[in-house]
Amino acid sequence: MNIGIVDADLLGRKKHRFPNLACEKISGYYKEQGYQTELVLDFNDLYKYDKVFVSKVFTDTEMPPFLEQSDTVQFGGTGFYFDKAPKLPDCIEHHMPDYHLYDKWIEKEVRAKKLFCEKKNKKFNEQYFMQQFKEYTDYSIGFLTRGCFRKCKFCVNQKYNRVFLHSPLSEFLDTARKKICLLDDNFLGIGYKERKRMFSELLTSGKRFKFKQGLDERLLDDEICKILFSSKYDGDITFAFDNIEDYDVIHNKLKIIRQYKNRKSVKFYVLVGFGSTDALDIENAFKRIELLFHYGCLPYIMRFQNKNDTPWKISEFRSFYITLARWCNQPSIVKKMSFREFCEANQELHKNKSTLCSSMDAMRMFENKYPDIARKYFDIRFEI
Ligand code: SF4
Repeated sequence: MNIGIVDADLLGRKKHRFPNLACEKISGYYKEQGYQTELVLDFNDLYKYDKVFVSKVFTDTEMPPFLEQSDTVQFGGTGFYFDKAPKLPDCIEHHMPDYHLYDKWIEKEVRAKKLFCEKKNKKFNEQYFMQQFKEYTDYSIGFLTRGCFRKCKFCVNQKYNRVFLHSPLSEFLDTARKKICLLDDNFLGIGYKERKRMFSELLTSGKRFKFKQGLDERLLDDEICKILFSSKYDGDITFAFDNIEDYDVIHNKLKIIRQYKNRKSVKFYVLVGFGSTDALDIENAFKRIELLFHYGCLPYIMRFQNKNDTPWKISEFRSFYITLARWCNQPSIVKKMSFREFCEANQELHKNKSTLCSSMDAMRMFENKYPDIARKYFDIRFEI
């Protein structure tokens, strides 16, 4: 039997670059049962397969209108069912992922780029080009734990009231891969003993590891900091600062982090556009950014959206939110420039000097309406 596996986000989103773990597990399971599995790269090819699994993570990924669930086509994932997404059967959920599911697609992308460069007489830097595929080629991926008890209203994670063990590291660790990427919802929320054991396994593996979701800063203590900041952590250690009401708690935790941070880069997701999309929401974002700057931590603006709404896109500050994210989400820029300087730099590059660029326009519009907020925050700087 030929099984087609569709990563709908890969086909439906332009710059999507992260493997769909459910697709890899489905492939791994069926291959072991002796079936042929293949990543589908074109919805028009679905007729070639006896059975098709379509998985989607993002609710706003578009699907071809002709594609419907049937006896041979099965849908799954949060992109279809949001927080009601049915679980994979245990035999698949706990199967070693097929980390080679995407190999042919990557080869195809490389060939196409090479050809493009040849035609344009340009040099092709394969190593640089391959960077975008590193999550597909370099990492073992999985969940050590699942679930979360916080039930933040903006989060898809509403199913459980606790954090519980999900997979042992050995279940998804491919020793040939250089690194480990953990998708846990709230790893630090697991009990002390289990957390210690899992940290120890990660350290013993000798591989660099990272948690893809922001870690729960509110659960940090000295011991966790000691482990995290002395480990072979891969990239920025990332936490979440979603709610201004956590200001004092986060402030206290930042004081702990400061003792361990050294040269490690620490990043915080800063959620905006959830409770409202008004001046207060923007002021709250800047208040969080200011605190993070003070402790040498990088903010990363996350604009809220769910399966039905993207409130910031229909707000009067749409352009401002875009500018704020462009400023914050580029570390090399946010470390060097205040928000005002960033907008001025954009204006400098603007071709038509007699008009305002969109960033400058958004900044001016806000400043005219809310001069006090602008005075307080538009010139704040990252502190090392
Ligand atoms: S703490 Fe994180 S995982 Fe838990 S509900 Fe809130 S956003 Fe979701």
